[in-house]
Amino acid sequence: MNLVLVVNAGSSSLKYQLLDMDDESVIAKGNCDRIGIGGHVSHKIPATGYDYEADCDFPTHTEAFEKLVEVLTTGDGKVIDSMSEISAVGHRIVQGAEIFDKACMVTDEVIDQIDGLSELAPVHNHPHALALRACTKVLPKGTPQVVVFDTAFHQTMPPKAYLFGLPYEDYKEYHVRRYGFHGTSHRFVSHSLADAMGKDIKDLKIVSCHLGNGSSITAVNGGKSVDTSMGFTPLDGIIMGTRCGAVDPSAVTFVMAKHGFDAHQMSEYMNKKSGFLGLSGVGSDNRDICAAAEAGNERAKLTSDILQYQIKRYIGAYAAIMNGIDAVLFTGGIGENSWEVREAVCADMSYFGIEIDRELNKTVKGKLMKISTPSSKVEVWVVPTNEELLIARDTLAVIAENAKK
Ligand code: ADP
Repeated sequence: MNLVLVVNAGSSSLKYQLLDMDDESVIAKGNCDRIGIGGHVSHKIPATGYDYEADCDFPTHTEAFEKLVEVLTTGDGKVIDSMSEISAVGHRIVQGAEIFDKACMVTDEVIDQIDGLSELAPVHNHPHALALRACTKVLPKGTPQVVVFDTAFHQTMPPKAYLFGLPYEDYKEYHVRRYGFHGTSHRFVSHSLADAMGKDIKDLKIVSCHLGNGSSITAVNGGKSVDTSMGFTPLDGIIMGTRCGAVDPSAVTFVMAKHGFDAHQMSEYMNKKSGFLGLSGVGSDNRDICAAAEAGNERAKLTSDILQYQIKRYIGAYAAIMNGIDAVLFTGGIGENSWEVREAVCADMSYFGIEIDRELNKTVKGKLMKISTPSSKVEVWVVPTNEELLIARDTLAVIAENAKK
């Protein structure tokens, strides 16, 4: 077995997957959450259906990581004898800014640099650094660790795509620019798509629609991200579960004044109370929006319409900047499962040469499948994403690369 542990740390959670990279199967997965506010562990073994949950005490990420080691190595859910059986650990990191344009080995300096970017991603980067320090403390000495960045794939965007119309000095001084997120997913699915189409990714212009709780759309030209809908933070772009997506900046200052919000309150309003939730008044989950719309709820119907409209608008914009498109792909919880969203987005796109097989589209859920008609000029595909697997693959690739040095 060639075991890689993938860790996705948040401020109060430490999600993990243990993969056997010989066959890329998931050996175990779970979450140590409620860090700092109690503690709870869930540990699952897909092969046997083993499912364990318990309350714990996690004052910090270190105790959470110690619990993760305990559930992997002891008791009924034991899958390994000791952590020394693990070849490597791969960490998902949200913000790598302009410092990290690819995955790299973890060193003390790298952890400090990730922590140093916390101002750009306060909810994510500091917890990532805490988890990295906790893992380094608890893992057997010498266990290689790799960091894989959500932003790295988008570092190929040209300045005309990543700069805002703000004074240039603030880009230089405060690093205010579009970074883009979901990069690991966009890279993974665009490569999967090229393989499925039997084409070299260098020859393809793809619009990658990652639609989940958080959603982003990326223009991938020749395997490189050339533009993406998320921006300085994952708030920009299309409407999401609770995030507003792009709004006129003047509306932000206007609403702040009307509600008497400070910057933090306004950020909460845009990140947690907007999007599907704020528009529909129903909830943040696309399934609830679809069900309410079906039942005749007008605001839910409007929310669905806005989502579909905004996705369409990005496809049009990205077709323009790439001088055409060869394929559109849908991924993420909504993209992989909601035939309704895919159908509505692809309707009336004959100008672009997009035509889907509506009956086939209805049958596709969470599997790799072409849903365009044979005569469609642009291929349309559903491509399941798997960020953990790509992080594990990147982890081994970085270690192999490093070994050559
Ligand atoms: P995250 O961004 O948290 O990773 P996911 O990619 O899991 O989120 O996507 C969650 C979204 O996918 C939710 O809005 C959910 O309603 C939607 N979704 C999941 N399954 C379906 C389905 N069968 N039909 C429609 N929407 C679905």
